[in-house]
Amino acid sequence: MSATLRFQVVGEAFKKRPIDVPAPSERPSEFFAKYVFTREKMHKYLPLPTYERMMEVIDGEATLDLQTADIVAEGMKRWAMELGATHITHWFQPLTEGTAEKHDGFVEHDGKGGMVEEFNGKQLVQQEPDASSFPSGGIRSTFEARGYSAWDPASPVFVIGDTLMIPTVFISFTGEALDYKAPLKKALHALDRAATDVARLFYPDVKRVHTNLGWEQEYFLIDEGLYAARPDLLMTGRTLMGHDSAKNQQMDDHYFGSIPERVAAFMKDLEIQALELGIPCKTRHNEAAPNQFELAPIFEETNLAVDHNMLLMMLMKKVARKHGFRCLLHEKPFAGVNGSGKHNNWSLSTDTGILLHGPGRLPRTADKDAVNRENLRFITFIVETLLAVHRHNGLIKASIVSATNAHRLGANEAPPAIISSFLGKQLNDVLDHLEQTTDDTISLSSKHELRLDIPQIPELLIDNTDRNRTSPFAFVGNRFEFRAVGAEANCASAMIALNAAVAETLADFRQRVDALTADGMTTMAAVLRLVREDITACRAIRFDGNGYSNEWREEAERRGLDTEASVPLVIDRYLDAASVEMFAKTHVFTRAELEARNEIKWETYTKKVQIEARVFGDLCLNHIIPVATRYQSQLIDNVHKLREIFSDEEAMTLSSDNVQLIRQIAAHTTYITKNVERLVEARKVANRIENIREKAIAYHDTVAPLIEDIRYHVDKLELVVDDELWPLPKYREMLFIR
Ligand code: ADP
Ligand code: MG
Repeated sequence: MSATLRFQVVGEAFKKRPIDVPAPSERPSEFFAKYVFTREKMHKYLPLPTYERMMEVIDGEATLDLQTADIVAEGMKRWAMELGATHITHWFQPLTEGTAEKHDGFVEHDGKGGMVEEFNGKQLVQQEPDASSFPSGGIRSTFEARGYSAWDPASPVFVIGDTLMIPTVFISFTGEALDYKAPLKKALHALDRAATDVARLFYPDVKRVHTNLGWEQEYFLIDEGLYAARPDLLMTGRTLMGHDSAKNQQMDDHYFGSIPERVAAFMKDLEIQALELGIPCKTRHNEAAPNQFELAPIFEETNLAVDHNMLLMMLMKKVARKHGFRCLLHEKPFAGVNGSGKHNNWSLSTDTGILLHGPGRLPRTADKDAVNRENLRFITFIVETLLAVHRHNGLIKASIVSATNAHRLGANEAPPAIISSFLGKQLNDVLDHLEQTTDDTISLSSKHELRLDIPQIPELLIDNTDRNRTSPFAFVGNRFEFRAVGAEANCASAMIALNAAVAETLADFRQRVDALTADGMTTMAAVLRLVREDITACRAIRFDGNGYSNEWREEAERRGLDTEASVPLVIDRYLDAASVEMFAKTHVFTRAELEARNEIKWETYTKKVQIEARVFGDLCLNHIIPVATRYQSQLIDNVHKLREIFSDEEAMTLSSDNVQLIRQIAAHTTYITKNVERLVEARKVANRIENIREKAIAYHDTVAPLIEDIRYHVDKLELVVDDELWPLPKYREMLFIR
């Protein structure tokens, strides 16, 4: 049996697993959030005063006291036990990938020799998971291994299987964040305060500002049997070798194509389970590469959206296995075809409307003052966002880089390694116009007509379809789409940096307005002057051209944008004076936290490349070289046999192609063997470096490039060695689900 067939047989076995997709008669509206302790369920399971108290807590108007927590825990327990729950876990997002949980049973001794189901407020609110094995970047040395997890009431608890899951933050005993959620909540809080202060310049009754996040999760599916036969996929999440298949995505026939039946069954199952957990899934489609797909929900408040994305990634992996697939979230599982990203659609809204929305929605009868105020409000929030992304463009990039995303960024498919913003012609025209009209004498008293000289912002802007796919941070009508985020990443990392940076510029903006109005300027005149100043200040971040071109790289350097592509060096941006100051002002991170987190980032980078190098070296030496050598021997045999039958001269002619091939194989195998030795040596040298940052740099500069270099020769061998012998499933086998 050929290797290929063997892999498929394994795949078939997995396909036969039972698939229990609920009956089609049930509608999403009937099972949505079935396993979530929603406000509605709180109303049902909690006494009214407790329910009312909880509403205040959830809306951030009150803090949770232990007495309330006890009553809430009791109601929760009753609800969860009705769904069959027997355990609880605090669910948190440590600085590794994914989420962590520690399960405890509901049971306690009843004091009479029996057991009783017990769950109280203390257990709900705070726990002390043994945290010593989670990365802390030295904040919490291992002998003082206590960190604690604390409930985030803004994210509702839910039941999975027999477990009541409680979303929590995870912090050290000295108060430093050991997770993503704690700083995210701080960043969102900072943004709320700063944006509310600015929104009030336009609408005095605004109470709070939410940030919204709508992520678009891209992923690959692959037959589980084929996956199991690829040690590189299994251990690193990507193929470290493999030649392009003759056909991949050049026909553009996958994107939005019809979804294969097995995949459709997976998607349906996944969506039902996600909807039951309150994740508002909406869109599914094929993506650009073969076997690549996307799922997007309706956007939500950012903290909840992040939790839901983490939960979805967990579900995807689980449900895929049930359907005989593996779900690949790595940003670049296959070379030569598109990688996977996670566009983060980001917007701001008040309790009264969306702040990044153009004024097109005003009634036609609205007076000119109102229209102008809307225009100016819209432009203020756009410009202050751009200013933040400009001021911290290196940091924003640092928030999305990783060893895995590095393979996607900069390739001719994904946003480049330079952060810039696409606005589209209309909005650019508006900003240019504003910047160029320097008339400061515009009459702005409320008695006079407001003459802001802003051209009417066309309604079309709202449905801006002028999409530039090469831009990492594009304005798309009523939101920015941050496209550089990696498929595998926790969105929180990007959302922390972006929201904190925008909070800083908005807070500054409000202070600057106040300073001008204290000097007697009217509010709108002050806003207009500052917006003009800021349009000029952040001009360099605006770029509507082709982000993939070499000219852009040079141009970006001239503009002073960060063009660094080495992951360990990009991570440095977290410790820039401007970043440290911004995170301190917004109370998101202390310098110590930033330093600790950077250590974890460098270490993670190093480990990832280290594992790749090991797996790659092993595969070369015990999969590729032996097989290539065996095939080479067969060819040599053939040459000898030809000599036995034919005259020397004739045999020479007949065997010349094979002799050529024997030489080719020898050249590749020699190259591979020699350079795998160099790879091992490079690793050893890097491993001796003590400084974590320096070590990551060494891995980036000396180890990672060797893998790519040797890979070229392995892929060439794949083209010539007998298919029957080739020990790994090939791209053409893995990439086309039948
Ligand atoms: P596309 O692929 O064209 O960008 P999708 O429909 O795949 O569009 O995804 C759009 C995403 O943007 C969805 O997650 C959606 O919820 C989100 N979104 C739409 N409006 C907003 C908004 N105002 N704020 C944040 N996210 C939004
Ligand atoms: Mg999109």
